[in-house]
Amino acid sequence: MRHTSWAVLNTVVCAAGVASVLCLLPLGAQANGFQNFDDAALIDQVAGAVARGYGNMHGYRVQFKMLHESTPYESALMTQYTPANRTCTFFINPKDTSWHSFEHYLQFFEGLPKKVVYEAFFAHESGHCVQFKEQIDFGPVERAQRQELYADVFALSHVERYYPKYRPAFQIGLMKMRSVEKGTPYDFSRLLHKLLGQPDLLTALKVTGPQERAFAIARAVDRL
Ligand SMILES: [Zn+2]
Repeated sequence: MRHTSWAVLNTVVCAAGVASVLCLLPLGAQANGFQNFDDAALIDQVAGAVARGYGNMHGYRVQFKMLHESTPYESALMTQYTPANRTCTFFINPKDTSWHSFEHYLQFFEGLPKKVVYEAFFAHESGHCVQFKEQIDFGPVERAQRQELYADVFALSHVERYYPKYRPAFQIGLMKMRSVEKGTPYDFSRLLHKLLGQPDLLTALKVTGPQERAFAIARAVDRL
């Protein structure tokens, strides 16, 4: 698999809506700003469908923003929820050297269709916005870690509802991905394992109503 050039992604800033005379927008440019790199068209489609899908379900707006290449964040993708205008902003980090790029993550999910994995990544990020939109708070102790756990289970719920036959494999990949994290907010594989072992977790993943489902997932995390 060719290494993704996040540097090239930087040129996409134009397509993401930042006006500049230096920008040369190809005709027919896609709406969400993911292009000019491997799997761009697929990610663009997934980003639009999944991110906006959860926005519609939970009643918030979605926008995409490219970060400057020098921004010192490690994640390829981040979100921020602004309650005042009910907007979930997806920040895309074009930094080439970041370990946290889509393709690096993909290695943990070998055998799964890329579409399923990419959708799960965007569902994870959407999970963060949903958590804030629904005013779910895990309290001051271990908040950062529990928010990430919540987002992971949110992604798992997405896979269970849309691609149920891939849910067990995705779950294994998720465990593998978190097992290599040491000393980061994602260093929670032991807790994730415990969470995934809860007998009624599957029921929570499948709750039909978006809001009820968001709270059911939160209760599962709270039980840890
Ligand atoms: Zn996250």
